[in-house]
Amino acid sequence: MPIAYNKRTHLCGQLRAAQTGEQIILAGWVNTSRDHGGMTFVDVRDHTGITQLRFNPEVAPEAHKAARTLHNEDVIAVTGKVAHRGEWVNPKIPTGEIEIEVAEIDIINRCEPLPFQVNDPGDTSEDMRLRYRFLDFRRPEIQRIFRMRHAIAKAVRDYMDDNNFVEVETPFLTKSTPEGARDYLVPSRVRPGTFYALPQSPQIFKQLCMIGGFDRYAQIVRCFRDEDLRADRQPEFTQVDLEMAFVESGDVMAAVEGCVGKMFKAALDIDIDTPFPCITYEEAMDRFGCDAPDTRFGLELTDVTDIMKETDFKVFREAIENGGLVRCIVASGGEKLTRKVTDGLTEEIRGIGGTGLPLVKVSEDNGSLKFSTGVAKFLHPVCDRLCSAVGAKAGDTIFLMPGSRDEVGKYLHYVRTRLARILDLIPDDQWNLLWVLDFPLVVWDEEEKRWFSTHHPFTAPRDEDIPLMDTDPGKVRSKAYDLVLNGTEMAGGSIRIHNKDVQNKVFSLLGISEEEAHAKFEFLLDALRFGAPPHGGIAFGLDRWVMLMSKSASLRDVIAFPKTQRAVCPLTNAPTEVSQPQLDDLFLKLNLPPAK
Ligand code: ASP
Repeated sequence: MPIAYNKRTHLCGQLRAAQTGEQIILAGWVNTSRDHGGMTFVDVRDHTGITQLRFNPEVAPEAHKAARTLHNEDVIAVTGKVAHRGEWVNPKIPTGEIEIEVAEIDIINRCEPLPFQVNDPGDTSEDMRLRYRFLDFRRPEIQRIFRMRHAIAKAVRDYMDDNNFVEVETPFLTKSTPEGARDYLVPSRVRPGTFYALPQSPQIFKQLCMIGGFDRYAQIVRCFRDEDLRADRQPEFTQVDLEMAFVESGDVMAAVEGCVGKMFKAALDIDIDTPFPCITYEEAMDRFGCDAPDTRFGLELTDVTDIMKETDFKVFREAIENGGLVRCIVASGGEKLTRKVTDGLTEEIRGIGGTGLPLVKVSEDNGSLKFSTGVAKFLHPVCDRLCSAVGAKAGDTIFLMPGSRDEVGKYLHYVRTRLARILDLIPDDQWNLLWVLDFPLVVWDEEEKRWFSTHHPFTAPRDEDIPLMDTDPGKVRSKAYDLVLNGTEMAGGSIRIHNKDVQNKVFSLLGISEEEAHAKFEFLLDALRFGAPPHGGIAFGLDRWVMLMSKSASLRDVIAFPKTQRAVCPLTNAPTEVSQPQLDDLFLKLNLPPAK
C-alpha cells in the first residue's frame, strides 16, 4: 500500500507519551523485527532513533502479513496510531513509552542479505565497515560523530564570521608548499611533462591574502600530504586555516582560544577557561621531555645530573662526561609497579631504541630511606640527597635516564606516558589546553648535516634573536606557537617573516639557494617586495579535534570516506590503474619495479 513518505509526520526518535492517540506517518529502515505470539513487532530506525511498531493481525491483517516478510534494513513507511505501552514501557530508549499500532505498511525497498548487521556489527572488521560505509553511517554512533563534526565546523565558521574573517578559497592544483612532506602530484595534459602539486596547506596563498589586504582570512580546507601512514595520519585531511594581518603572536592565540571555546561549547556544551596556559619549548622539554606535554597528570622530570656526578655508576658518569645529563621520574603506587611491569617497561624502552631503564625502589629501614633493586648499590651513597631532591618517599620508584637531552626526553616522555596509564592517573573528561612557545627556529639534522625549519621557512625569528642566526643558529627562537590538548599537538602556526631580507637570510641558513628559493616561492618573495604587512596565522587539524572531542578511536572514524593505513580507499578501491590512452594523453610511461 503506497504511503506518502514525503509527508511523514515525525522522525523515528521523536514520539513521546504526550502524542498518545495521534495518527502518524513514519518512514525508515527496519532495525529489528520479531514475532510474539501472533503479534509482530518491528523497530523502525532513522538518524534520530527508533520507534517500536506493533502489527496486530486482528486490527490490520494485511499489514501484519506484510510485516512478517520484513528483513533488517528494508525501507518502510507506516501509518498508525500512537499507543502507550502501559506496563511494557522500555526506559532505555527515548521513545520507549509508546509504540505505533500500525494500520498500513508500505515496503518501499527491500534490502539484500547484509555484509554485516547495522544494528549489531559485532567484531566486523574496519575494512568491511569502510567498504560498506553507507551501512556504517546508519549506525547511531557514526551519526553522532558526523553530526558533532558538523556542529564543530559550524561553530568555527560562525566564530570566523563574527570576528571579520573572510573565507577565501585557495587552489588544489598548485605548486609545492613549504610543509616539507612529500607532495601528491597531478600531471598536466596541456603542458606535457609538468605537474601540479596538491597543497600540503594553503600557507603561501593565505600569506598572499594578507599582503593583498584581506586583513583576516579563514578557511576550512582540505590538505594533502603523501606521508607514510601512521595510525593517526590520513593522506588528505581537513584544516581550519587562518591568517591575520597587523598582529603579534598573542592576537592569533586569542583568536584561536575564542574559536576553540566555541567548538567545545558546540560539541560538548563545555565552557573552556581562557586564556590557555603557556609554556616555552625549553620548559616543556625540561619538565616533560616532549614539546606537546600532557598536563593532566604529574610525573614530571627532575634533573639529577649534579647528584649523579658523585656516584660510581659508569653508565651515568659516561653520559655526563659526554656532555649529557641524567633526569628521573618518581612514581608512587609501588603495588602496581611490580617487577614484571618494570621489566616490561625496560623492554619497551629497548624496543624504541634505548639501552635500558635504570630504576630504584625506595623503602624505609629503621627510620631512614634506602634503595633496592638493580642499580641500587651504585646509588646508596646519594640516597638521602636524591630522595630529598626529588621528593621520594618509601614505596616510590625512581626511574632514571642518562644520555643526551633529546634521548633522555624521548625515553622519559615515553615512561611518563606509560606510567600514567599503568597507575591510572589520567582523569576522564579533562581537557588540558596549553600553548607551547619559543620553539627553536631551526633544528640540526645530523644525517643530512644541515638545518631544517622547525615549522616552515616563513616563520619569523624573534627579533632579539636575529643576530644569533649568524653565530649560533640553534639558539634562535621563533615566533611560533603550538596548541596542545591532553598531550596531542592540535594546532601550529607562527608570525611570518614580512621582510624579504630576513626571508633570504632564513633561506640561506636552510641551505636553500637564491635560485631554488625563486624557483619554489617566487610569487611569495615577489609579494614581500610590495608592501607586505606584518602577519601571522595558524592551522588546526579539524579531524583530530573531532576525534578527541567525540572520543573516537581513530581519525578514520571521523572522516566520512577515509583511506586505510595503506592509503587505499576501501570503498572505491582507489588508487587504481588507468588505461593506456589516459597515460598516452598525459605522455606518461610507467616504470614499475618488478612484481614481488
Ligand atoms: N601551514 C602550517 C601547517 O599546515 C600552519 C601555519 O603555519 O599556519 O602546518
